[in-house]
Amino acid sequence: MKSTGIVRKVDELGRIVLPIELRRTLGIDIKDSLEIAVNGQQIILQKYEPACIFCGNAKDVMTFKEKKVCPKCVAEIGK
Ligand SMILES: [Zn+2]
Repeated sequence: MKSTGIVRKVDELGRIVLPIELRRTLGIDIKDSLEIAVNGQQIILQKYEPACIFCGNAKDVMTFKEKKVCPKCVAEIGK
């Protein structure tokens, strides 16, 4: 794990600001979702990209009956 050397204070509501450079580098836009994981004393934030329920592919995923499905699997289902 690589340290960025960035230190941020938590505010009254428990919020921290993710530095813009970091958001740019990781492609995190306003209103994007982040998944929060914990590893011992570490909090891990990862861009939340729902994956296809069948193959795990996260690219061009669409929603079908509230489930995430990729175009390739949709095509296979249609056969
Ligand atoms: Zn798929």
